[in-house]
Amino acid sequence: MRILLVEDDPALRAGLCEALEQAHFAVDPLAAAEPAEAALASTTYDLAIVDIGLPGIDGFELIRRVRRRGIALPVLVLTARDSLQDRVVGLDHGADDYLVKPFEMPELLARMRALIRRSRASTGARLSCGPLALDLIGRSATLNTVELELTGREWGVLEQLMLAAPRLVTKKKLADSLSQWDKEITPNAVEIYVSRLRAKLADGGVMIRTLRGIGYRLEEVAREA
Ligand code: CA
Repeated sequence: MRILLVEDDPALRAGLCEALEQAHFAVDPLAAAEPAEAALASTTYDLAIVDIGLPGIDGFELIRRVRRRGIALPVLVLTARDSLQDRVVGLDHGADDYLVKPFEMPELLARMRALIRRSRASTGARLSCGPLALDLIGRSATLNTVELELTGREWGVLEQLMLAAPRLVTKKKLADSLSQWDKEITPNAVEIYVSRLRAKLADGGVMIRTLRGIGYRLEEVAREA
């Protein structure tokens, strides 16, 4: 999962980056809204965390511009101003949720997971596709009740496929979601992670179908009677 973080306080930005990376998110940090607008236009993020008080244009205006471009990713607003008016304005501008500073990391993580699930029309933290089950909070995957051993990148691919199923996920979306600016993942690398995942899913009753030139889709394999 790849997150855009827009926060101008250097200490808070660094602390959030560290905590989010510990929680296995890939994070691109920015200190201002203008570069964030450009990043959101060019990269597919799973979620954006946006501080309201920023130098230059503020977080409200950033969200308004992003929504006007038709970008639909979930946006969580951070605000130091504990006023009802700010929250109302933020939600009216297209934010999906807000958190008032100071906040506790577990609450931020829980709200992020809920927003990401809701954005994919998934209701629970446990996803399943036939005999494959994913626990998004515990980050564990089981196939026919046997736990799968997955690397971080393999997990990242499987999580995206599972959240999208039965819809497909483009190769670019997979590459974006695994990347950070300082660790770019190429579409060729995505192919490698997919092939390793296929080996781990082999004969398990679920498969990753390639839609050539488009992307991948997770499908249950019909069992022979
Ligand atoms: Ca600020």
